[in-house]
Amino acid sequence: MNRRDDIAANLTTIEERVRAACSNAGRNRADVTLVVVTKYHPVSDIDLLVSLGVADVGENREQEATTKMADLRARWTVEDLRLHFIGQVQTNKVRRVAAIADAVHSVDRPRLVTALDQAVGHARAERRRTSELSVAIQVDLQPVLAVSSTPGRGGAHPDEVMSLADQVASTGHLRLAGLMCVAPLGVEPDRAFEHAAALSARLQASYPEARWLSAGMSHDLEAAIQHGATHLRVGTAILGPRPAAQ
Ligand SMILES: *Cc1c(COP(=O)(O)O)cnc(C)c1O
Repeated sequence: MNRRDDIAANLTTIEERVRAACSNAGRNRADVTLVVVTKYHPVSDIDLLVSLGVADVGENREQEATTKMADLRARWTVEDLRLHFIGQVQTNKVRRVAAIADAVHSVDRPRLVTALDQAVGHARAERRRTSELSVAIQVDLQPVLAVSSTPGRGGAHPDEVMSLADQVASTGHLRLAGLMCVAPLGVEPDRAFEHAAALSARLQASYPEARWLSAGMSHDLEAAIQHGATHLRVGTAILGPRPAAQ
């Protein structure tokens, strides 16, 4: 099989899983967005994905994403293709992230909120960007799950989510979209996403528009849908194993 057929077959399988999980959870398929995580995979794969009807892709490294988007924006508009930035953002990279991302799922500290807001403001003033940047607050669930911490994955402490949300909501250029989490290794995804759902409910009590719950990857998307995920971030199950980092 060629690459296009492989990806199309994997997309069909994922679509069946998503539909079955929505049906089990009594949810509408239309309320769940599939973000295909394309990190490490070539631009040609993203072209294939768009031609197969995928409109949302996720990248986690600024430099790689910048290079790919420079190429892709020559062919695809924002209606065709939206970039979700899902990796840790260094404060010195915010200008470039603001230039390419339609959403950032990984906002986890006050300094990053300030820097991103300024960067989007500059981009809009210079007419390099028209829209606000949708932002999800990444929460680190390890403290509430009482598992030993794996450092370096990012995420705010659950106790800090509301103050970060207040900060995002008070900016001029960021739209508070919701929450993002990764189920920690060695924990039942069900247990992790149950906590995330509770945090999301608390957030929406203050900010009803902050409905995103970005949760669920290749191996745990069913549990995420069961607990209300609105955005799935699926890489391996659609594109296969990632090539080694360049
Ligand atoms: C790479 C990545 C994914 C995709 O994971 P798969 O197991 O390949 O589906 C999802 N979320 C984040 C934050 C990632 O970095």
